[in-house]
Amino acid sequence: MKAVVYKGNGRIALEERPKPALLDERDAIVEVTLTTICSSDLHIKHGAVPRAVPGTILGHEFVGRVTEVGSAVKKVKPGDRVAVNVETFCGACFFCKRGFVNNCADENGGWALGCRIDGGQAEYARIPFADNGLTVIPDHVTDEQALFNGDLLSTGYWAAKIGGIQPADTVAVIGAGPTGLCTMLCARLYTPAKVFAIDTDEYRLRLAKERGLADEILLPGRDDAVSAIRAATDGRGADVVFEVAGGADTFQTAWKIARPNASVVIVAMYEESQTLPLPEMYGKNLTFKTGGVDGSYCQEIMDLTACGKLDARFLITHRCSLEQIMEAYEVFEQKRDHVIKYAVRP
Ligand SMILES: [Zn+2]
Ligand SMILES: [Zn+2]
Repeated sequence: MKAVVYKGNGRIALEERPKPALLDERDAIVEVTLTTICSSDLHIKHGAVPRAVPGTILGHEFVGRVTEVGSAVKKVKPGDRVAVNVETFCGACFFCKRGFVNNCADENGGWALGCRIDGGQAEYARIPFADNGLTVIPDHVTDEQALFNGDLLSTGYWAAKIGGIQPADTVAVIGAGPTGLCTMLCARLYTPAKVFAIDTDEYRLRLAKERGLADEILLPGRDDAVSAIRAATDGRGADVVFEVAGGADTFQTAWKIARPNASVVIVAMYEESQTLPLPEMYGKNLTFKTGGVDGSYCQEIMDLTACGKLDARFLITHRCSLEQIMEAYEVFEQKRDHVIKYAVRP
């Protein structure tokens, strides 16, 4: 089968690989019907994910059809259409029992798919702990509607939940890329009064506004985010801030636009260390929450998708076949042609 393989040293390649087989009684094999490229794949390519293993098939955001299950798998059966969770997790360890599946203590636990174990930019994928990592897609939900269930929507949903948004809050989201847009989408579930979106890409900001995800958009260079948000909140600042950009100075913007006693959720995956200027922050009494995502809510997200309350299809701006994925990587990495997300058909 065809698969995108991380070769190490900033290289990836589309190669011929053997079809995966069951290795454990809790595994399932999924025939991938739609997959995508995530910015985390670029982080791996850039060598910014130290635990990524060269030779691994990339891809951790995909949907497909179950073709085979191990003898201990109970929830899914061959023929089921499924969305795949970015995280594989045992469900039984200290962290899993508390929903903190990103820190699952199993050797295959946490974000392993497409990083340390072969993922879904391929025609088939082996899913460990299939009962935990697969969510059945209802018949009336399309592959495109379900594609972002296990990663982007899981991340937005997790971020909005740990942000502790209260009705009528002012929320600020830094970064209007795919994850930022999903964070806004999920923040809306908590009925904030106002959502500010901040990004350096005006096209993405306009998309956030047109889609009703952001009420106000701020473009650094043109707008001063700190004074605009203070002006809108009687000088206080945002009640909840999400830092989803991971840029050179966006961490500083995040704490500056937060009001005293706010929560600042760090969703972004930085490629460099950040400075916490504690003397300047003294008295602000902020709570910082740092990622990565605990993909513990895939069924809730699927239920909200099935009834139309969460719809991330607008993120798909580009479509191609697996054969064309290397060109898609180029476009996605260079952010050409206003790309937000690709839907890739094996
Ligand atoms: Zn991802
Ligand atoms: Zn576990």
